[in-house]
Amino acid sequence: MAKSPPVTQDTYSFAPIGYLRTPFADKFGIPRQPSLAPHATGELQLIAPYDRAEAVRGLEAFSHVWLTFVFHQTAGQWSPTVRPPRLGGNQRVGVFACRSPFRPNPIGLSLVELAAIDTDAGVKLTFRGVDLVDGTPILDIKPYIPYVESQPDARSGFVGGEPERLAVAFSEQADQQCLAAQPKYPDLRELIIEVLAQDPRPAYADDPQRVYGIRLYQLDVKWRCDGRTAFVESLEYL
Ligand code: SAM
Repeated sequence: MAKSPPVTQDTYSFAPIGYLRTPFADKFGIPRQPSLAPHATGELQLIAPYDRAEAVRGLEAFSHVWLTFVFHQTAGQWSPTVRPPRLGGNQRVGVFACRSPFRPNPIGLSLVELAAIDTDAGVKLTFRGVDLVDGTPILDIKPYIPYVESQPDARSGFVGGEPERLAVAFSEQADQQCLAAQPKYPDLRELIIEVLAQDPRPAYADDPQRVYGIRLYQLDVKWRCDGRTAFVESLEYL
């Protein structure tokens, strides 16, 4: 059994077990919860001393895991109430009644699909459906146990069901650029569709001419939204 420092005080410090690599170079455009974009793949290379095959022994038998992580880009900023996008950005709820990244302890929890475990050189885990920015520090991994954690009759407050998705259309130029990027990013087109279908625009943004940029991998995806359709105009390498 490895030794941990004794718990003798009521502030705790945790070291990441690794940093998640994801397609999301910045926060804008990241789905608001995991599994909304199944083609958003995350890779986690465990760091020493956790990078031992025995530390993940048996994990391959689970299809989904909980990732506990640090909201490192919002750490230190919180307020007792927040305005969730699902309430149109104009109603406040308590920080403990929502999944905002702005929390007293900036800790997040995402349920993701475990796609692969590679123990050839250290331990590398691949997940599908991640909702985290590239470089997010991961604190822990735990298997998802459906018989206790799946609660089909649970109430979900202001969140309700899944919001209506946007349709996504590509310009001819964007289509060609997707094709050209395919050898490097085989799932790029599906990922763009899944991300834009979530309507990542800020609440109240409703200008059909306004062009937004979302950074996926090394690409700046330029798009705009007219009615319920997101139009992908072009993809530019950064
Ligand atoms: N599923 C997690 C949870 O419930 O704790 C995260 C939900 S939170 C609403 C998801 C949003 O957090 C993303 O859309 C992105 O804007 C933001 N985010 C993702 N990774 C982050 C990070 N490392 N630091 C700060 N914000 C992050």
